[in-house]
Amino acid sequence: MKTFSMGGIHVDDRKFTHASPIEPMPVPKEIVLPVSQHIGAPAKPLVKKGDAVKAGQIIAEKAGMISANIISSVSGTVRAVENRQGPGGFHLLSIVIDNDGRDEWIAAPTSTAPSPDVVAKTDVSGIVAAVEKAGIVGMGGATFPTSVKLSPPPGTVIDTVILNGVECEPYLTADARIMIEHADRIAAGLALVMKHFSKNGPVKGYIGIEANKPDAIEVLSRIAPTYGDIAVVPLALKYPQGGEKQLINALTGRSVPSGKLPSTVGCVVQNVATAAAIYDAVVDGRPLVDRVVTVTGGGVKNRKNLLVRLGTSFASVLEHCGGVTDDSAMLISGGPMMGKALNSATVPVTKGVSGILVLNEDEANLYDEQPCIRCGRCVEVCPMGLHPALLARNLEIGDYAKLEELGILDCIECGSCNYICAGHNHLVQSIRLGKIRVNELIRERNKKAEKK
Ligand code: SF4
Ligand code: SF4
Repeated sequence: MKTFSMGGIHVDDRKFTHASPIEPMPVPKEIVLPVSQHIGAPAKPLVKKGDAVKAGQIIAEKAGMISANIISSVSGTVRAVENRQGPGGFHLLSIVIDNDGRDEWIAAPTSTAPSPDVVAKTDVSGIVAAVEKAGIVGMGGATFPTSVKLSPPPGTVIDTVILNGVECEPYLTADARIMIEHADRIAAGLALVMKHFSKNGPVKGYIGIEANKPDAIEVLSRIAPTYGDIAVVPLALKYPQGGEKQLINALTGRSVPSGKLPSTVGCVVQNVATAAAIYDAVVDGRPLVDRVVTVTGGGVKNRKNLLVRLGTSFASVLEHCGGVTDDSAMLISGGPMMGKALNSATVPVTKGVSGILVLNEDEANLYDEQPCIRCGRCVEVCPMGLHPALLARNLEIGDYAKLEELGILDCIECGSCNYICAGHNHLVQSIRLGKIRVNELIRERNKKAEKK
């Protein structure tokens, strides 16, 4: 079975909720929508305290090249525009809305059943504008604005569009359920993106899915090829196969050079949920107002896959799942490998939140750090060919130039080095800090060069 060529680890997948169908969750009274739910510049608020808003209304507009619109997920009244803690742990400017419970839309979306015929009839010349208006970002967690991904630099030829259905993080099953329950929307979304890029020549589509989801592989293998030249490829279980560069390598054998985008090797990668959202926006005029979230871990009483309106608090979601167990020990936004540990459940579900994970004491594995024994295991597993132990050491002594030379900016923060470390060293946390320092160094260097 296919997989990527360098590094990687095998993790216990713990997909407890794989067989749990997606349930819509009731919308709470309060919705909190941070103006930054994406990589890039925060969106600019268009509303103020006291304003009435409708579902589907743009309440903060993209600001700059890499940015995305924020859409109200409910109708109601703006109670405040103030700083609130986001699911990444930081405080972010947020629009707080009192939901009036009426669910009035600014423009009611249509509901067209996806089919190859619908794709053939759809004019994709407005796809970038529709996706931008709908506020769509990468829903696998990367949150890169989708309209930007659909607009590679002039002269770039995209011959391959890849859908990421890998979902290699343990515990998470949101993408698996979307693939099983909404295969047609996903395939139609992929076909629309392929059609968009086909002006420069034929485009091949791939959907990569790890082999621990045989039901998703079966349904998409049956449906997707009816939409065009699309191959559904089962992949060996190896983490972090959902990384863009790893997935491209596994499916096409191509390697994206250091510091470059997938478009340099003719590829564009989208998450499966993003493809479904693209279909909704382009065909039905439906903006991104909700998403599927896996609520799981040994610390959750009733584990579920829920369709949640954006802005719903983690606390409301957990309450809907019966609350947490007495031995719950750690709350994480996202999966256990790349997610963020949180000190509060008052944070909202945003566009990139694929999971709410509550680990119990057994699962949390809270070890103390031990000295590095130079076993080299972190080097063996790094999928980017880095030397994590050496990076951590150079951060300790403050040699940021050396960190840059060692390629720290190539780190995809997958956490494989942490997982394997014999000394339980917090390598990825050190590397994250090191990346901030190196980026500061580069900015200073560029400023000096500009002055000359
Ligand atoms: S977190 Fe970074 S350094 Fe560690 S294994 Fe992943 S890519 Fe390599
Ligand atoms: S895995 Fe841990 S103990 Fe082994 S070399 Fe890397 S940092 Fe050191």
